[in-house]
Amino acid sequence: MSDCLFCHIIDGSIPCEKVYEDDQLLAFKDIHPKAPVHVLVIPKQHIDSLADLDNKHQALMGYLTCRLPEIARQAGLNNGFKTQIHTGKAAGQEVFHLHYHLLGAPA
Ligand code: AMP
Repeated sequence: MSDCLFCHIIDGSIPCEKVYEDDQLLAFKDIHPKAPVHVLVIPKQHIDSLADLDNKHQALMGYLTCRLPEIARQAGLNNGFKTQIHTGKAAGQEVFHLHYHLLGAPA
């Protein structure tokens, strides 16, 4: 989606501090961290929010969720981590490209 900030991060036109990347996912450091380690994990496929998921997203979202422990380890979160997803403006979502927040402190 051309006017989406995170799609621009995926295509490289906006820089990011990359933590993990594969053909389906990108993880990068949040620009305004709310914890010592704060990483955003996004699917490369544009999906506005969790509210837009349906059955066709099962494999992608299952894959994304199963990669979180490895991404957390790569970010230095060896002592547990918190996950957060904001869905909709009223819930605090600012960027409408589905993303997990991964938050914690290195061990
Ligand atoms: P949310 O409120 O769940 O939509 O979170 C959006 C997150 O994106 C916020 O925590 C922002 O700090 C973060 N953010 C916004 N712009 C950038 C950027 N260019 N690079 C990294 N993180 C960003």
